[in-house]
Amino acid sequence: MPAFPVRPVAAVLLGVGLGVAAVVVAQQEPQSVPEPKVGLAQGEGLQPLLRPNPQAARRCSARLAIRERPTPADPTNYGERRPTDAEGGRVPNQPSVIVLHETVMSLGDTLRFFQTPHPRDADQASYHLLLDRRGMAYRLVPDAKRAFGSGWSAWGDGSIRHRPLSSPLAGGSINNVALHLSLESPADGRGDDDAHSGYSRAQYERLAEHVLIWQLRWGIPMRRITTHEAVDRSHSRRDPRAFRWEKFDRAWWQAASRCGISAEGPYGLDALPQI
Ligand SMILES: [Zn+2]
Repeated sequence: MPAFPVRPVAAVLLGVGLGVAAVVVAQQEPQSVPEPKVGLAQGEGLQPLLRPNPQAARRCSARLAIRERPTPADPTNYGERRPTDAEGGRVPNQPSVIVLHETVMSLGDTLRFFQTPHPRDADQASYHLLLDRRGMAYRLVPDAKRAFGSGWSAWGDGSIRHRPLSSPLAGGSINNVALHLSLESPADGRGDDDAHSGYSRAQYERLAEHVLIWQLRWGIPMRRITTHEAVDRSHSRRDPRAFRWEKFDRAWWQAASRCGISAEGPYGLDALPQI
C-alpha cells in the first residue's frame, strides 16, 4: 500500500494501461505525507528573533531616566526559566515575548497579593513589572526569572509543557519565554465589565519606555508584544481591557526617537504611526 491514497485520475490511467502517462502522473504525487507534529515539541516559534543589545538598552535606559522601585514578589509566586520540558527535551528559555496585563485590583491589593506566600500552585501569580496610575514602575520579578503571568497560554502554535500529560495542570504556557508587565486599572475597572475609562498618559509613556528597553535588552521585535487576552488559552482572560494600541504606538515612537532607535528598523512598527 502506498503511504497515501492514489488519486482517482492516476487510478484511471493505471487501469486503462497508459503506462507512460500513469508513471508521469504517479511521479507528481508526494512520496510521503509528513506526520503532523503533536506532543511536547512545542517550543518552536518561541526562539529569540533578534540579537540582544544590552549596551543600547543601558544607554537608552539612562537617556530616558528609567526608574524601578524594588518590590520583590514572594519567591513562591515565581520560578526559574527552565531549559527542558516535561519529557526532558530542550526548550527556549530566553525572553522573547512581551505580554501586557491590567491589575483589575487596586495597586495596594495587587502588591499585597504578590508579596503574600502562596504554597498552592493554583494561587501563584506574578508579573515582572507593574505600572501604577502615575507611571511609577514596581519591579516584582527579575527579568531572568519566570513570572507566573499567563499560566495556560500560547503564542501562535508555540507553547511549552512543563508537566506530564497525565497531570490535570498539563496545559502549555509561554511563561518560560515571557516578560509580563501589568497596568494598574482605573477605579472604574475593578469589576468584570467589558471596558473601563482606560490608562493614564503617564502609564502609556512609561509602558512604551520599559517595553523599548526590554526589546533592546533581549532582542524582541514589535510583533512579539501582545496582550494576555491574545495569548490566553483558558478563554477567561480579557486584559488589558480598554487598551489603545495607537496611544502605545505614539508613546513608543517618542521614546524610540529619544534613544535614536529607528521606527523602521528591526525593533519598530511596520509603518510609522500617524502623529
Ligand atoms: Zn493578565
